Amino acid sequence: MNKNTILVVEDDSTVRNLITATLKSHDYKYIVAENGESAIAMTATHNPEVILLDLGLPDIDGVQVIERIRSWSGVPIVVISARSEDNDKIAALDAGADDYITKPFSVAELLARVRVMQRRLAALSATEQPMFVNGSLRIDFASGTAYLAEEELHLTPIEYKLLCLLAQNAGKVLTHTYITQKIWGSSWENDVASLRVFMANLRKKLENEQGEQSFIQTHVGIGYRMLKVD
Ligand code: CA
Repeated sequence: MNKNTILVVEDDSTVRNLITATLKSHDYKYIVAENGESAIAMTATHNPEVILLDLGLPDIDGVQVIERIRSWSGVPIVVISARSEDNDKIAALDAGADDYITKPFSVAELLARVRVMQRRLAALSATEQPMFVNGSLRIDFASGTAYLAEEELHLTPIEYKLLCLLAQNAGKVLTHTYITQKIWGSSWENDVASLRVFMANLRKKLENEQGEQSFIQTHVGIGYRMLKVD
């Protein structure tokens, strides 16, 4: 219904009030859920544009909330977690969350995440395209070729697969497990180690001569994300 509504799921009223005050002052429409079950119900009835989801909820686990919403909806989900919940954060991303923000966070940080999700939403409708363009980076999926500033990139098959995976999920944080599963079909410790090596090589090739235009963001201990640069 309301395409621009943000669903805020948070049981802690202090944090919830901070988030809603921030959204309100920036002209976002929002709705609020104080537990997991009502979050799922409100997602179905209100079709929010973005969900801001606290992981520690009084009724069901935040990761379960994501799994259930993901069974029918691709709505962008930003997880809000405490600093101590690193494993939960990874589980949430693997369950289909798009991004995370760690408490305590600033108002600017919160708004930046929401904007990334809105851009991701715009990019999603473009994923069926035969061509991916992000700043000076261009991928021609049909011919299996990538270009940087119209210069063909010489990528190994795995580097190309990695680049496509990141591009098709631009704006979303992909965990090490997710990436290694997609690329190698497994996620052993040594796959994650090889992933680091492949990623380092790929990034080197993506750096243009003027210096680093950073397309790939590293999330230490978690994974990688392709940033939308335009
Ligand atoms: Ca909580």
